[in-house]
Amino acid sequence: MEVPRLLKLLSNEVNLQILSVLRTGSFNPRELARILQRDESDVSRRLRALERAGLVEGRWVRVGGKNVRMYSLRVDGISIRFQPGGVSLESSKSGEYSFLTVKSGTPEVEDFFGREREIQLLRSSPERVIAVYGIAGIGKTSLAVKAFPEAFWYQAEETEGFDYFVWQLGIHLNALGFPQLLEYLRAGGRNERDEFELALRGIEETGTTVVIDDLHRCGDEKMGRFLTFLAEGLKNGKVILLSREKPSLGAENVLYIRLEGLDVESAYRLFEARGGKVDPREFAEVYRLTRGHPLAIVLFAQASSSGVDASGNFFDFLMSEVYGRLTEKERLLLQILSLFDEPLEYEAIKALYPGRNVFAPLYALARKGLVERRGELYFIHDLIRGFIERVREVEPADYYGAYIDYLLRKGSARDFLRAFKYAVLLGDEGRITAIIEERLRRFKRVVQDFQGAYLSLLSKAPQIPQVRAEIGTVYFQRGFFEKALGIWLDVEDKLDGIFRADVLSSIADVYLELNDFEKAEEYLGKLKEIVGKNPDPEVELWYYVIKTKLHYYRGEVEEGLESAFKELDVLKRLGHYPELEALVYLHIGDIYSEMERPEEAIRYYLLALQVAKAYSLSFLEHTCYMELTKAYFHIGEYEKAVEEGDRAIDYFTRIRNYRRAVDTLGYHFLALIGLGELEKAEEDAKEMLRMGQGSNYPLAWAGYIFLAVIEKLRGGNWKEYLRLGRERLGDYPWLYEAVLEETARVVDVEELKEK
Ligand code: ADP
Repeated sequence: MEVPRLLKLLSNEVNLQILSVLRTGSFNPRELARILQRDESDVSRRLRALERAGLVEGRWVRVGGKNVRMYSLRVDGISIRFQPGGVSLESSKSGEYSFLTVKSGTPEVEDFFGREREIQLLRSSPERVIAVYGIAGIGKTSLAVKAFPEAFWYQAEETEGFDYFVWQLGIHLNALGFPQLLEYLRAGGRNERDEFELALRGIEETGTTVVIDDLHRCGDEKMGRFLTFLAEGLKNGKVILLSREKPSLGAENVLYIRLEGLDVESAYRLFEARGGKVDPREFAEVYRLTRGHPLAIVLFAQASSSGVDASGNFFDFLMSEVYGRLTEKERLLLQILSLFDEPLEYEAIKALYPGRNVFAPLYALARKGLVERRGELYFIHDLIRGFIERVREVEPADYYGAYIDYLLRKGSARDFLRAFKYAVLLGDEGRITAIIEERLRRFKRVVQDFQGAYLSLLSKAPQIPQVRAEIGTVYFQRGFFEKALGIWLDVEDKLDGIFRADVLSSIADVYLELNDFEKAEEYLGKLKEIVGKNPDPEVELWYYVIKTKLHYYRGEVEEGLESAFKELDVLKRLGHYPELEALVYLHIGDIYSEMERPEEAIRYYLLALQVAKAYSLSFLEHTCYMELTKAYFHIGEYEKAVEEGDRAIDYFTRIRNYRRAVDTLGYHFLALIGLGELEKAEEDAKEMLRMGQGSNYPLAWAGYIFLAVIEKLRGGNWKEYLRLGRERLGDYPWLYEAVLEETARVVDVEELKEK
């Protein structure tokens, strides 16, 4: 491939993000798209281009009768050589290298004037969190870009909040060699403390500067808590907050800078650079009127040089001057853009603009300073939007509908959330419920990955029963079972079709979690009626999922197994559903384990593993290793148990899921005992106790019993450890019994049982 084409591929931010995620393993495009929050077809297209360039390698793997495409990195790094004959690029498979970072999301400033003092202050102040505030158009964004061109840029938006921010930060830190935050989020981790700590560590270790633009738009309290946390903990990284109003963070060490207009000289230079023509003496009047407000000066340069009518709103006067000179097409486009308070990508603008050639007016508006470009995104300044809103003739409803359709066609979680926002703005109940149906069928993960953002959108239309049911789902995800149940019971008879089915299966599920099997069965019965009347494979699947769970909880393993196989049948009819397929295999494995048929269990765990790996579902993949550790231990294959256990322990510790890490450590320990590896086993026991300190997960205290086991095998003093173990597990006698029962498979425990 020629050098310029390759460089072009490498100078694209999204491509670099893809490459940096691939650095951590092989991926299927679908999961890559989820991680990067982009649509799958876009990611596939980029992967193909990167493959043609020899940077990545695609291969087909066969999973359960289907071919699945997996991509991995082909090179470790690229070096650029300047040679007599020209420039050449070489790729290497080993050696140190660091990723280029290209930031298309960061705004660009071409000609920047003045502000030397502020830049100096921003760069050298000892405070690690700095808030720059001032009125719209005063130059906050431009200043931050100038001072920190390499920063991680986050444009705050009303609907997105902390969840979305932290995910983007995770992607960015991953590209800089800090994968832990992204890995944690992908695995569904949502503990506030963990998120904050990992983000802080990532910012510190990479020395990142984070800029949050338009912070005043973000109404998420979690963001406020995060910023306070950073202000107290940052030593190396930096955070710059841009806001209309002075943000109040409950921390001391924050520097506040209130931004005023430019000084006269800088203002004049800006005016001239933007094509303004008056002599310096006349400019004094312009300066008096604008007080150095840069956006006003940019517009002034566009307006006629004739006198100024300074009565009334000065900015509006300027805008009407400038607006009056636009072509019909430019005006229409500006009006359309003013309907959206978020940057739009070129494809979206194309989909919205009724004419054929949107490029020409868009380009003209950008040149006149009325539209700004950020990488692939275009937007208009709030001040300009404010003016356009007053002269606007287009109807929001005509465009929001088209935008919603466009977003749903694209299909990332972010697009889904935006579509929802515009449906709420339209107040169109039909559309809102149609979008919720999409959530139930296609965007299942939104309630896990973007809880906060989704909840805040939902709470804008609480009168709609489908919306209330969704609010219940978010509560359920957060562990508020009773609250969720209350909402669902309340809306149950106001719904029908797939919405009612969803609520019925949720109610049954929550009763299962609350151990009320009779109620669970009652609601499962209601769900069955719906399945009988109106076959919809999606709903049928929910029915069998709950049914399997009910039987399993009741210890009715045969029925559970039968129902699980029904799930598989339905999944085949539904088509592409790898997450669930892997999960069902895993559950079948669990049921076989329960039936004490470990060989069959292993067969299904391995199937689950195959699917999870093919689709890069790391959490599921490692859950499989965890289950395999246990199953291999049960059939006496200790070496295999240790090997699988290593993988699971490493992963669950990294993503701070200490429960799973401890569960695996227990079996890993016993397998090591089975192999006679006492020293390594001792490490496991100690690790369990360390995790117990942090997590308070009772099984971790089995570490003491395990230390007793080791001392006993060594002929040392084991009684003290045993006493400690008994004491710590005092409230969980059944757990103590279970630990002894499993331990008995490898050592004689009779003495440990004595009172
Ligand atoms: P804010 O973020 O405060 O709303 P912006 O940074 O977007 O303001 O600035 C508004 C406009 O003024 C932009 O078009 C920008 O190019 C211009 N501008 C602001 N500050 C300067 C400066 N110091 N030099 C040149 N142009 C500036």
